[in-house]
Amino acid sequence: MFKKVILCLVLVSGLLLCGCTAKKEKANLLSTIKKRGELIVGVKFDSKPFGFVENGKLQGYDIDIAHLLAKRILGNENLVRFVEVTPSNRISKLNSGEVDMVVATMTITPSRLEVVDFSLPYFYAGQAVMIRRGTAIKTISDLNGRRVVIVLGTTGETSLRYFAPEVILQGYRSYKEAFAGMLRGRAEAMSADDAILAGFVMDHPEFMLLPQRYTQEGYGVAFRKDAASASLKFEVNNAIAELRKKGHLNQLKAKWLPLASDNLKK
Ligand code: GLU
Repeated sequence: MFKKVILCLVLVSGLLLCGCTAKKEKANLLSTIKKRGELIVGVKFDSKPFGFVENGKLQGYDIDIAHLLAKRILGNENLVRFVEVTPSNRISKLNSGEVDMVVATMTITPSRLEVVDFSLPYFYAGQAVMIRRGTAIKTISDLNGRRVVIVLGTTGETSLRYFAPEVILQGYRSYKEAFAGMLRGRAEAMSADDAILAGFVMDHPEFMLLPQRYTQEGYGVAFRKDAASASLKFEVNNAIAELRKKGHLNQLKAKWLPLASDNLKK
């Protein structure tokens, strides 16, 4: 009888152990990606020079980062599928499982850290103000009482509300719509990351950035805040540390932001 009880206990614990291992396997996103043979990444399609479509090709700094991560994880930089995200939907697309990670000019902030995890920063941007050349706006406080374009849900929106509380906000869901609003004269200025505004100035030299930067913000790769994403985050952090050490992040910056933002001020 005693032997039978021992046998049952051994069998039950064996089954439990198998169950746990299977569950752990299923829960490991890095293994899932390797089995799937494809990395699914949320990126911007309208934020030159980070994620944008030109001549029918999706390209930019964030797109290059995603290709480098696919190469590291899957051994082939082309094994990556891009899904368009915007500042308003990137967290829900990540948390619903539609994408494995988000590489989309996304600033690491304390409030976002409550709902997602971030990698080490791979790029630093600062909030800036873009005006049409010749406009009599010199500093962010001159924006009080004026109409200013922002993209909803961005750190640009939060900073502007803080630095110019009397501003009249014109909120848009995407950078494309926001800049179109600027072109139509809907507002006198646009407030956003200098790195993103630089992309508009590259193509539209009638605009310029004011010299001041009102924040310093690190862009991070975002992950779901769960144990399954831990090994993926670990792998991505190692990749970012290596890219920084070998100077590849600086090369990407030189490739996509060839004019230092200082040159865009005048
Ligand atoms: N980096 C800023 C942010 O994360 C603006 C860019 C963006 O939203 O994509 O809010």
